Amino acid sequence: MVKRTFQHTGNDQLVYGLPKHMVGSSTNESLKKSKTRKENDNSTTPENVVFWTVHPKAKACDKCQAMEGIKFKEKPDRPHPNCKCEIRKHEYKPGKRTIVGTVSGSRNVSFAGLGHVDIELSNIGVAPLPGVRITSNLAGMQERLVPLGIPQLFDFNILTDTHVNWDFWFEVFAENTTIRYVINYEM
Ligand SMILES: [Zn+2]
Repeated sequence: MVKRTFQHTGNDQLVYGLPKHMVGSSTNESLKKSKTRKENDNSTTPENVVFWTVHPKAKACDKCQAMEGIKFKEKPDRPHPNCKCEIRKHEYKPGKRTIVGTVSGSRNVSFAGLGHVDIELSNIGVAPLPGVRITSNLAGMQERLVPLGIPQLFDFNILTDTHVNWDFWFEVFAENTTIRYVINYEM
C-alpha cells in the first residue's frame, strides 16, 4: 500500500494527535490514555483509514472552537473538563473509486481524491466527431475530438500526498450529443 503523509494542507490538515499548542505535559495519566486509544484503534480493520473531527457547540470556548475543521489522526483529548463538544470518528477504505455518468451540453462533477485522475469518454451519439472539453480546477484544461466508437482517455495529475477536492467541468460541442464518462481515481 502507498504510504501517505497527512499534514499541513490548510483547513484540511490532519494532525497526528493534538496540535502542539493543545498538548499538555506528558503525565502518567495521558500516557495511559494514549495506550487506550491505540487499543481502540485496533478494533477497526487495519487497512481502513481513520480520522477524527471535533464539532464545537455554538457557545464552546476558544480552545474548542480552534479544533473545528481539523482532521485528527487519533481521537483528540478534550481541552478541558465538562467539554460537551461532539467528537466524530470517520473511517474509509483507501482504494480505487469510479464515477460513471453522461453529459450532453455541459455539467460539473466534483469529488475528493488523490492526485491522479483518469477520465474515459465514449461518444454514444449522435454527432460522429464532437469536440469535448474537460476543465479541471487543479490541473488545467484538455480538449479533444471523441469519435463514435473510439473512447478517449484523459489524464489529470497534480503532485500531492493528501486528498484534494477535484472539480471537473465537461462541455460537449455538438447538438443532441451524449458523452459517457468513466472517472477513475483513488482515495
Ligand atoms: Zn468543548
